[in-house]
Amino acid sequence: MFESGSPGRTGFFWPEEAGPTGLPQELLRDEIPGFPELGELEVLRHFTRLSHLNFGIESQFYPLGSCTMKYNPKVNEAVARLPGFSLIHPLAPPALLQGAFELLFGLETALAEIAGMDAVTLQPAAGAQGELAGLMLVRAYLSEKGNPRRKIIVPDTAHGTNPASSTLCGYDVVQIRSNDQGMVAPSAVAKVMDESVAALMLTNPNTLGIFEKNINAIADVVHSKGGLVYLDGANMNALMGIAKPGHMGVDVLHINLHKTCSTPHGGGGPGAGPVGVKNLLRDYLPVPRIMKSGNGYELREDFSKAIGRVRSFFGNFGVLVRAYAYIISLGSDGLAETSRMALLNANYIRRKLESVFQIAYPERCMHECVFTDRLQQKRHVSTLDIAKRLLDYGFHPPTIYFPLVVSGALMIEPTETESRETLDAFIDAMTSIAREAEENPDLLKTAPHSTPVRRLDEARAARKPVLRWEPKRD
Ligand SMILES: *Cc1c(COP(=O)(O)O)cnc(C)c1O
Repeated sequence: MFESGSPGRTGFFWPEEAGPTGLPQELLRDEIPGFPELGELEVLRHFTRLSHLNFGIESQFYPLGSCTMKYNPKVNEAVARLPGFSLIHPLAPPALLQGAFELLFGLETALAEIAGMDAVTLQPAAGAQGELAGLMLVRAYLSEKGNPRRKIIVPDTAHGTNPASSTLCGYDVVQIRSNDQGMVAPSAVAKVMDESVAALMLTNPNTLGIFEKNINAIADVVHSKGGLVYLDGANMNALMGIAKPGHMGVDVLHINLHKTCSTPHGGGGPGAGPVGVKNLLRDYLPVPRIMKSGNGYELREDFSKAIGRVRSFFGNFGVLVRAYAYIISLGSDGLAETSRMALLNANYIRRKLESVFQIAYPERCMHECVFTDRLQQKRHVSTLDIAKRLLDYGFHPPTIYFPLVVSGALMIEPTETESRETLDAFIDAMTSIAREAEENPDLLKTAPHSTPVRRLDEARAARKPVLRWEPKRD
């Protein structure tokens, strides 16, 4: 942008009496060296061109495992933009906020029902912040019992935020290994569980896309030593209307609304990571809490055991509006159907690709399936090469090299919103890539070939980005 335009060119004209800029002289800053001067059409073309370089769920299939890149119905966007929601001021008198309060109360109630928990806070702005808030509740509860304890048990398949949140909350992390079926064994938990452990953080379905069948037995082990069970519920897209974590011995969990409940995500935000608790943790929930009062609702702060505030105002309100619209437009049958379709799509891909790529665990999967590059390694083709080659076929690559317990992992989460035709096109692309790995491995090792930039040195690209746009010449 700094290289286009011409001095004196502009896209906007003030009325003459307002002076050359329309602003009082004392508010004007000095000349900015090299500041671009462009016409309206040049600006428009610049940003339109950039938008075409973007990859999004609305342009192509985006099977990024563990991220649930589903389509977000436009009606939820329309609802979030209603002036009654988008223009309210959080410091307006409660009498003027009753509609917003009713929505927040309704969403808390719906999420408690979906997860099988007793109470919910909507404040945390992301999954990771939900984890931290949830662990702060655990700490407050155990402290009141006399000892906050020192450790959190985290399985080796956990998302990186789990050990990070534990550390941030002042706990030491004890890592346990999953077994050869990709699951946590109750005996592995029993081996490290003692009265110095505050909680176990478990993800279910876990990041291998496998349901932790032994979760009730695991919870019994943790509870028998006075610890609590934290469920990382970021993968709720697999469970809605089918199973409730509250029935699995879980004491506290977070849900990622930006994954499961229709908020566009990627690039860091905005999100919402509500936390659900069983009654034993209710008194510690962050304030303000939304309560029924007379015919309406009020926000209350007078809870002496509360951990305090974790987010300004009501949380990420726009995300909460989308989530509520999503939940009530689908209803309980629709949510169950959503999860069933997510499982069906993932298992369809698993079955269709397991003859061309090595599957990490032969179990039936939940919402995502994990392959490895083991077969392609014979031709020295790696997961990174496969992922880069997928870009040439117009698909966003799956999550790669995660979870760490699978060497060369390719973690595919199709979500429920993709049609059979799209899944088949992706399966065809992956099958072609497997054939190319046999016949022409160099083609993969130099991929991508059709993107605006080729294979990047990713560390250098992040540290020293080259932002100049060069038209492609070959
Ligand atoms: C996405 C995810 C998280 C973190 O959620 P953020 O909203 O990105 O902070 C935690 N655990 C699992 C399993 C996830 O998939």
